[in-house]
Amino acid sequence: MARIVMKFGGTSMAGIERIRSVAARVKREVAAGNEVAVVVSAMAGETDRLVNFCREASSLYDPREYDVVVASGEQITSGLLAIALQAIGVPARSWLGWQLPIQTTNAHASARIDEINADALITAMASGEVAVIPGFQGVAEDNRISTLGRGGSDTSAVAVAAAVKADRCDIYTDVDGVYTTDPRIVPRARKLSRVTYEEMLELASVGAKVLQTRSVGLAMKEGVRIQVLSSFDDPNNSATADTLPGTMIVGDDEIGDDMERQLITGIAHDKNEAKITLIEVPDKPGAVARIFGPLADININVDMIIQNIAHNSGSTDVTFTVPQAELARALDALAKAKEDIGYASLVHDSKVAKISVVGVGMRSHAGVASAMFKALADRGINIQAISTSEIKVSVLIEEDYTELAVRVLHTAYGLDAEDVVE
Ligand code: ADP
Ligand code: ASP
Ligand code: MG
Repeated sequence: MARIVMKFGGTSMAGIERIRSVAARVKREVAAGNEVAVVVSAMAGETDRLVNFCREASSLYDPREYDVVVASGEQITSGLLAIALQAIGVPARSWLGWQLPIQTTNAHASARIDEINADALITAMASGEVAVIPGFQGVAEDNRISTLGRGGSDTSAVAVAAAVKADRCDIYTDVDGVYTTDPRIVPRARKLSRVTYEEMLELASVGAKVLQTRSVGLAMKEGVRIQVLSSFDDPNNSATADTLPGTMIVGDDEIGDDMERQLITGIAHDKNEAKITLIEVPDKPGAVARIFGPLADININVDMIIQNIAHNSGSTDVTFTVPQAELARALDALAKAKEDIGYASLVHDSKVAKISVVGVGMRSHAGVASAMFKALADRGINIQAISTSEIKVSVLIEEDYTELAVRVLHTAYGLDAEDVVE
């Protein structure tokens, strides 16, 4: 007998038929004698729809009210799954974020989980009742509903797994594992049977949305075993999750000196960034702090940053990227701080994409970045900004070239599978 957390994403919960199929899969785990908690996402497309309502209502929406709106998608699917489970004879009930509770910070729309009180869950699970938990939501210090940022149900699942000391955290999605790049863009992408926490963390942070970044960081910190697998396999076949061929996220020690380990683990893209350039910022101490301070105050994460060399006039241009969803708020904050920062003008561009290559092999091999720049140059793709970390190189390019850039790099680093006909 094991204690397991099963998480089902939006496509897996999209409609009553799919929810019935999820219920059958959960029943199989219960029948195998396991204690089960299920974390669910909203139906595919639902959160986007709710976010758009907020934007339509006001581009400068109050994040606390945004949370009230967008958290509702998961409330619906958690209730529906509990009903579907009861209908096939599996005792089940839903536990909303505030009922457990899942305590979070006050950073509405991108809150972090502080603590989960798992007592009620553990008691329910031990009694044979399946606990169905809406992902993505919690209750903030201000006692109002909060959400964990897009894709946050993964983090809910890992946090619940850590809180109940689960033996496994199985993340069911619409692909059967983590691939060398998004398999919807590159059919020749290869499935990885194991990925280290560190590489997955980096891949997720640069756009491989198969797992939310925070979920991987939390799993690494708490030692939660994550498996990514498909909910679209036949739920009635006799295999249990232990034997399904998904991707395990593992510690570095579990991979060891795998001979087949590639220099590059994967390539990711992110179209959700927007570029802002402040023109003629005074080139003196404190100028950059005055730009990024107001953004940090409203919880906006700045990613790539370039400060150009000074003009003769003693001023400089500063370019950086912010999440596209935060662009309106960022522009508003920068407009308010215009006098204090002292810039002459501002331009912004949402039609950009960040392409990243990730691999721990970079630590010991030179030339990864130059190979990237050359492969892109050969296709006439212009690089607008660059950032690097120990195991990653990212470039910002025009959005229209995203798919081409990912394909070209996938081939350039020798990641293409051989047996796929495109
Ligand atoms: P869910 O709703 O189940 O949380 P998501 O849409 O958030 O699913 O994540 C799954 C999607 O992630 C896949 O459909 C795939 O298009 C995308 N994806 C991006 N990069 C990768 C990758 N490296 N490996 C697998 N899937 C990836
Ligand atoms: N429904 C939320 C989203 O679409 C959370 C999740 O699915 O993980 O971002
Ligand atoms: Mg997701």
